Amino acid sequence: KAAPLGSSVIPIVNKLQDIFAQLGSQSSIELPQVAVVGSQSSGKSSVLEALVGRDFLPRGNDICTRRPLVLQLLQTKSKASGGSDDEWGEFLHLPNNRIYDFSEIRREIEAETNRLVGENKGVSDKQIRLKIFSPNVLDITLVDLPGITKVPVGDQPTDIEARHRTIGVITKLDIMDRGTDARNLLLGKVVPLRLGYVGVVNRCQEDILQNRSVKEALSAEEKFFRSRPAYHGLADRLGIPQLAKKLNQILVQHIKVLLPDLKSRISNALVATAKEHQSYGEITESTAGQGAILLNFLSKYCEAYSSLLEGKSEEMSTS
Ligand code: GDP
Ligand code: MG
Repeated sequence: KAAPLGSSVIPIVNKLQDIFAQLGSQSSIELPQVAVVGSQSSGKSSVLEALVGRDFLPRGNDICTRRPLVLQLLQTKSKASGGSDDEWGEFLHLPNNRIYDFSEIRREIEAETNRLVGENKGVSDKQIRLKIFSPNVLDITLVDLPGITKVPVGDQPTDIEARHRTIGVITKLDIMDRGTDARNLLLGKVVPLRLGYVGVVNRCQEDILQNRSVKEALSAEEKFFRSRPAYHGLADRLGIPQLAKKLNQILVQHIKVLLPDLKSRISNALVATAKEHQSYGEITESTAGQGAILLNFLSKYCEAYSSLLEGKSEEMSTS
């Protein structure tokens, strides 16, 4: 029953996030999402492309990610189950514009990055928001960040708090020194993480230059793990499909935990704004009035998905 719950809750949180992104920094309500953190060239963008199954991120030898990219993956019905196999992207800054050509998506990310930070190496924290609709993805919201944060590794982790909500992704398992493997790392024997690890193999630069597709790379990844005795018995910790499954489960779980608090914060904000509105009298054109209307709208969303969740949990306990 986890899958239908996930597929209903994540799109609603995505809508809330889009609204807050447009409101700018005034909003004090934090919503859950998965951020990808790691040093430059560790393979973050490669992992995201593999999760989508398509090429669409700007790449090159140096910094390619210069603005955070919030990537909302949304699963659509496949042709086999009565939908269509179409895959497309939609940017928040280009509403109602379905882009079916993934190289056009890449060009738009580059153009939108340059629009704000210029052609040089400028980096900005202003987000680009992109939805990908496809029958081949699981619902996940991911944030690709410019690679500036080094993750502390070793037996003295500096950020205990973060370790409780970090899933380790180990890339480049194909280019380890011959005779070594990452088995103990994947088993959490080196740096334990509550959410554990997933090992992946993405395309190398040569694969990209030779236009090897993400789909080909996924089957090469599977073959790689099958052929390495060191990784036998670790199937649940290996490969991009496992990573997608785990991220979806973690995000849904996290949203479920946060929902009650999110709901009360939104209704508190609504009450406060309504009071402020009253104090202004009947000026409906005021920003406060507009705020109240917006909060009303948000609170309806919250009510809708809370009752949805309650319905689902009843369904789970009775069946
Ligand atoms: P980012 O800076 O963290 O976003 O890293 P990128 O995804 O741009 O990857 C940096 C380079 O590492 C690219 O040339 C990729 O082709 C290469 N790369 C990423 N993952 C792997 C992997 O699993 N194996 C190999 N051999 N190369 C990889
Ligand atoms: Mg990158």
